[in-house]
Amino acid sequence: MRRSRKAVLLALLVPLPSAFGWGEPHEAITKAALDVLPVWQQDLLGRERGPLATDYCLIPDHVFSNKANARFAAMESKPGEVYIQSLHLPSAQQPDNLETFRYFSGRAVAALQKGKTGDAARYMGTICHVIEDFGSPSHTIPGDNQFTLLQQFLPPSEAMKDKLLHGPIEDGTLDVRISGYHPQLLGITVEEAAWRLLHRVHEGIINARGTTIPIIQALYAQDEKGVVTNQLKAATKDAQVVADALYTILCLGTKKLEPGEQTSLKTVAIGAFFPLEAASLYYPQTQFFSAPYWGFPHSGVILKEGKKAVPLKLNVDEKSGGLIEQFGNGISVGMGKPLSFLLPKGVYTKFTAIAGLHAELGAKGRVEFILRGDGKPLASAIVDGTGPAHIFECDIRDVSLLQLAAESRGKDPQSNYAIWADPVLAKEP
Ligand SMILES: [Zn+2]
Repeated sequence: MRRSRKAVLLALLVPLPSAFGWGEPHEAITKAALDVLPVWQQDLLGRERGPLATDYCLIPDHVFSNKANARFAAMESKPGEVYIQSLHLPSAQQPDNLETFRYFSGRAVAALQKGKTGDAARYMGTICHVIEDFGSPSHTIPGDNQFTLLQQFLPPSEAMKDKLLHGPIEDGTLDVRISGYHPQLLGITVEEAAWRLLHRVHEGIINARGTTIPIIQALYAQDEKGVVTNQLKAATKDAQVVADALYTILCLGTKKLEPGEQTSLKTVAIGAFFPLEAASLYYPQTQFFSAPYWGFPHSGVILKEGKKAVPLKLNVDEKSGGLIEQFGNGISVGMGKPLSFLLPKGVYTKFTAIAGLHAELGAKGRVEFILRGDGKPLASAIVDGTGPAHIFECDIRDVSLLQLAAESRGKDPQSNYAIWADPVLAKEP
């Protein structure tokens, strides 16, 4: 893989941190994202647009060599830290990552509001870098940034035997294009935008994880096309998320908000969001439950006998055995393993959901569904397998941690096919 002279020189001069991030692809991804911003935003960036794509998106990597810009990748909450690792590798803790997005988005928006476009573009560069690094195919395995553990599972080819995999997995010259992509407004306040961005970035991380092993296999097979195809798959998703972030910051910084976009932000379905229990976005063994089957929560489906995914269906009629409704947005959960969701401050006022036992699998079960806000009970209901699901509607103003729990209440634990259907956060006056 080709590396620019600048990158080679830097690699020689700078003590190489553990998480260097993709070099040239940073530029290609940022440029692709900038290209789909509306004309007014491109005009607003003006002469900062060029350096944002070629220079500012690398600020967190260049904190030792470019001291003038290092302050745009520094955080007040981490005094004295020049190279902040959590700007390159996602923290396992969602609140840390949320704080990263909140802090730098806030800085960029404030700079724009003061007319300091140059400062704003540099903070935006740091945000681009974070999104791109989190979604890089070589930043995908928690705690194994150089793939020393993974190489024990995937023994290297003779040619790759003594090479560190991090660089080869992500380095290259990529032609990233997302033309036709319409950037999405992520929030009408920094708090909301940062929280929505966090969940968009989760999609980028999961997407990148799907590319890592195919890239390694292609590297072992000296299949350069296979490497690039998979790198592009990660980079394309990253560019879309970067476009959303930049678009939103520029809207907030200029207070230009389309009414239609604001309406679409009034509610958010959270059935596919990762709870805090899935730290690093997977369920560790400690989060497995034993009833109704041995397994872990699933979004959008429930596993019949723990084996076969079937749609989420609840009896929603007042009369038992009445109307059965199917839900796309929802989570199937086990007994005694609550799921906790981080909420943004001062954004949503109401949480609604329909909780019950699966209409076809849960007839012999009985479950208590419990909602907690910051550890305190908000509401609960005991639902019988033959009865209708319970409609929850809770005030969640000031709640920063929402917890959904399900507990067995007698009868047959193997029938406790519990579902939180249609979990939605809403803004209401
Ligand atoms: Zn980096």
